[in-house]
Amino acid sequence: MKASVADQNSLIELQRIDSAISALNHKLKKLPEHELIAAVQKRKIEAQATLEIAEAELADVAIDLKRSELEVETVSDRIKKDEARLNSGQGSPKDLEQTQHEIATLQKRKFELEDGELEIMMRHDAAKAKVETMQSDLQGLDQMELELNIRFENASTEIERDIALKNSERTLVTPKIQKDLLDLYEKIREQSGGVGAGLLLGNTCEGCRIEINAIELERIKGLESDEVVRCEECRRILVRI
Ligand SMILES: [Zn+2]
Repeated sequence: MKASVADQNSLIELQRIDSAISALNHKLKKLPEHELIAAVQKRKIEAQATLEIAEAELADVAIDLKRSELEVETVSDRIKKDEARLNSGQGSPKDLEQTQHEIATLQKRKFELEDGELEIMMRHDAAKAKVETMQSDLQGLDQMELELNIRFENASTEIERDIALKNSERTLVTPKIQKDLLDLYEKIREQSGGVGAGLLLGNTCEGCRIEINAIELERIKGLESDEVVRCEECRRILVRI
């Protein structure tokens, strides 16, 4: 295949643009926010699970507390009734003595129940504090995710704008290259990891970085400048400078 030096130089220009587009696409895919957002989402799932356990614990302790309060209330009511009966002075001395005894027993029971209630209240406070901590952790993670999403949006918008810019450069360069050369370039590029053409730098192919042997190098040097050369190793288009 033959192509003018200008066409071959435009092909190298096109390769530079295509390599830049590939690098930008890679950068877009590898934005650190991808992993950071995934990590925050994982932490959110864990925090949500811990919150649910803490909420269930709080609900259980709340039931215990209610029951305990009710028990204290019941005993208090009975004490009040007994005291009222005692104060009324009605009943035989034996009855009154029995009531006094009952009040003392109830009073002892009330103290025990109040001790128990205090212990449950402390458990209740601890469970409530844990729920509040987890809620605040989750809020923090939500905020972090939101900020990361904004950062991701900003970074990706910038890269996408650069890609669009490079694509418009591409549409300006491709008409400068003869069709068969462009087709060949596209075909090789597809098969060779996005690189279809490279410069001959000294005795090295820019595409595969392999040194060309002396005999082949002599042969290439002897060719007309409009002769399209291919690297013997990687088969990419080799443009002489
Ligand atoms: Zn090569």
